[in-house]
Amino acid sequence: MEAVVPVPAAVEIVSLTKRYAAGTPAAVDSIDLRIDSGSYCCLLGPSGCGKSTTLRMIAGHESVTSGDILLDNRNITDLPAAARGTAMMFQSFALFPHLSALDNVAFSLKMKGVGKTERHQRANDLLARVAMGHLAERKPGELSGGQQQRVALARALITEPRVLLLDEPLSALDPFLRIQMRAELRRWQKELGLTFIHVTHSQEEAMALADTMVVMNHGLIEQVGPPREVYNHPASEFVARFMGGHNVLDVPAGKVAVRNDHMHIVPESAAYSLGTNALAAEITDVEYQGTYVLLGLALADAAPAARNVSVMLGEAAFVARPYARGERVRLGWADADARTLATSA
Ligand code: ADP
Ligand code: MG
Repeated sequence: MEAVVPVPAAVEIVSLTKRYAAGTPAAVDSIDLRIDSGSYCCLLGPSGCGKSTTLRMIAGHESVTSGDILLDNRNITDLPAAARGTAMMFQSFALFPHLSALDNVAFSLKMKGVGKTERHQRANDLLARVAMGHLAERKPGELSGGQQQRVALARALITEPRVLLLDEPLSALDPFLRIQMRAELRRWQKELGLTFIHVTHSQEEAMALADTMVVMNHGLIEQVGPPREVYNHPASEFVARFMGGHNVLDVPAGKVAVRNDHMHIVPESAAYSLGTNALAAEITDVEYQGTYVLLGLALADAAPAARNVSVMLGEAAFVARPYARGERVRLGWADADARTLATSA
């Protein structure tokens, strides 16, 4: 028997709200979202912003206070988890340590009462599909992190989901493995063509993985878009600060965000004119980062909360004109590099 080719589904969320207890703020506050079929979507935001609650409502592991969840236009809001066409992959893969890879993958079929021959055949097909056929008899402890992730993927796929839900699957891994595993997740998503919804608090991880990033804050969606669009056109001060790599600056018209690698910096004494966008600052930190140097600065004429800014200088530019802690400088930027920000909720 051939492993079934999964059919991806679009996910639509309409006015979705979750309130854990009456009188408390909504953990998820009337959000609307459409996730394209076959795309990699990352829900991104700080701890407590409602990412896992959203994912668990899609999975059917958490009841909905109000609103709807649709899979390819089918309303699944009140269906049991197993009938939705979704599957979940958990943090650190959560494999059963005492079971072989094969039995891990076949586990949910066993629970459903599928006979041994059929469930082993289907599990073997899936393990072969994720290039793990030759290691089917190994236990998780005898597999590398990457191999364990493939077993966890096969285990999630055995229920033939149309949408795979992943809640911080990489966050317990060491940094090297995390970067390898995310590249592998991305490859499998493209290869399988399934819809992936991946929750993370890491903007770097979301940018590396996502076709579409959904930035959340306090139960609300702040911005939705491809990573480059979100990074280059942050919609709000929250998004600019959370994505990092930006300075939020007060200008007469309000607040703007400027990427820290788009800032211009000159010594205070330099005759060079920075035009109208010029601010006096003092260097507070110099961090060598390899391909670039990150300068921390304090603006001379800013309120304490808005004082700290950063400038990313290419290594060659820094070597040509090094800056030291305590040096006074002037900062500038081109109007074309300034993004006007909406005030965050
Ligand atoms: P995230 O995954 O973004 O860190 P969560 O969705 O887990 O955020 O939590 C969102 C909010 O809901 C938080 O304020 C959290 O404390 C609250 N919360 C989460 N789970 C529960 C629960 N089972 N009961 C009550 N409150 C919860
Ligand atoms: Mg969470």
